[in-house]
Amino acid sequence: MYDEDPTQAADARGLTRRTMLGVGAAGTAGLLLTAGAHPRRGIPGSYNRMWDAIVIGAGASGLGAARVLADAGKRVLVLEARDRIGGRMWTDRTSMGIPIERGAELVHGTTVSTWGLINELGLATHRQTTIFSRLRPDSPWTDAFDFEGLHFPLGAPSYPNGLPDPSDGETALAWLGRVGIPPENYPTALAAIEVDSEQFDVLPAWFVVDTVVACLETQDLSGPLPPEEYGDYRVIGGYNQVLQPLVAGLPLLHGARVHTVEHRPGRVDVHSSIGSFKAKTLVVALPGGVLKHGDVVFDPPLPADKRDGFQEIEYLPVFKGILEFAQPVLPPDHPVPHAWDIMTTFSKNPPSLWNGSVGTPGYGGEIVVAWMTGGKAQELLDLPETERFEAALDNVRTAVGDQGLQYVNASTYDWSKDEFARGAYPGPFSRRSGLNAPIADTVFWAGMVTSTIHSSRNSGVSAANAALAALALR
Ligand SMILES: Cc1cc2nc3c(=O)[nH]c(=O)nc-3n(C[C@H](O)[C@H](O)[C@H](O)COP(=O)(O)OP(=O)(O)OC[C@H]3O[C@@H](n4cnc5c(N)ncnc54)[C@H](O)[C@@H]3O)c2cc1C
Repeated sequence: MYDEDPTQAADARGLTRRTMLGVGAAGTAGLLLTAGAHPRRGIPGSYNRMWDAIVIGAGASGLGAARVLADAGKRVLVLEARDRIGGRMWTDRTSMGIPIERGAELVHGTTVSTWGLINELGLATHRQTTIFSRLRPDSPWTDAFDFEGLHFPLGAPSYPNGLPDPSDGETALAWLGRVGIPPENYPTALAAIEVDSEQFDVLPAWFVVDTVVACLETQDLSGPLPPEEYGDYRVIGGYNQVLQPLVAGLPLLHGARVHTVEHRPGRVDVHSSIGSFKAKTLVVALPGGVLKHGDVVFDPPLPADKRDGFQEIEYLPVFKGILEFAQPVLPPDHPVPHAWDIMTTFSKNPPSLWNGSVGTPGYGGEIVVAWMTGGKAQELLDLPETERFEAALDNVRTAVGDQGLQYVNASTYDWSKDEFARGAYPGPFSRRSGLNAPIADTVFWAGMVTSTIHSSRNSGVSAANAALAALALR
């Protein structure tokens, strides 16, 4: 993932819009009750007041901003197009035996700000500790938490005159070939980059150099890596529970699709599908894909640099397929321990499988999440849904050694076809700098190019603090 933040390391086909909203609303019913008015129940007259701030978008960015503004005593209104909060954090509590995450799922370490919310609520988590990987079905499994995951399987190349630098515009694949590292000699730590970004025939070479250097420097080491350096955690019972402290008590309108923002110094008029609202400041917490697509019109138009910045946002194709099995999939004598967390066979597409149910008390089945990003993810997204599930199942069957294995439920979602997201999250080629510059100390910006819940929330906090400073001067 590619945040500016240095701490970060069902396809719509087959689902009607109504079904999607139904699932979402059911998934956050408790939150809706605390989150204020719903358009079908009528908008209270008090919503016509002059708000100190309006926040557009009730994802992690927007709710992060709204919480700070409300806690500072400001009158803040959140406008959200969907019938649920969370945006690309979408806990689905109805499709399978336990809650599943159709968007964000993993908390990337205990140093992220989300961890404070997890502690505040006393939520249980599971750390995905075993990351077993192999290049091909006939390669040995190595655990990425061991230094062995950084070893070159066919032996480390040597560079008596130093590792050659990549040339301008050289792809990772071309550079790795030029320096004598063919795909069959990729350490799993290197191969893993393709699973979480673009593939090496597209990715610039500079993106992989540090990993190659780290691998070359650690060939003599073996055994476990220092544990604090790694860790992806799942929130047991559903990630969207962490939104509760952010949204509690906020005036929030669902079904409010914003289409036009009129702005001038000290005043915004926000026009949405359920009415118009006015405020002294505005925090725009919309996905970069939505802004790039021009779904919201700004009057007067935004400065050219801002508009150009939106056009330079490139969202990464992401495939996430979720399969539910009636019982755990690994036989007890499998080389990967039975309580497996992540298994990746790099030559498969999708390559990566993680256990989406380990650590859930009292659940007899198993949730397997299949994952891929970049061009290979797009190849999967271009297939009919059933073929995507078959591709994921093929990897599970091969990993488990049981060609007869069958799932009982399956789910996937193409975020690029979601009109309120228009993509999953930004890839390595997105422009990020300067996008958050405010307009006339009145319109502030959050999210857009963040790619984790942590950095999204932090961007909302920054935007809110900037809005508070502007309000204090008036
Ligand atoms: C498949 C997938 C897996 C991911 N995995 C992880 C992970 O494991 N860990 C992690 O930390 N992050 C992960 N992410 C990234 C993370 O989900 C996002 O970075 C984060 O949710 C973005 O938050 P946001 O508030 O900026 O945007 P969003 O969550 O998209 O919120 C924007 C909100 O704006 C609303 N909106 C859109 N248009 C309008 C409009 N016109 N008017 C009013 N409202 C509108 C949307 O409905 C939405 O609620 C994943 C994302 C995806 C798609």
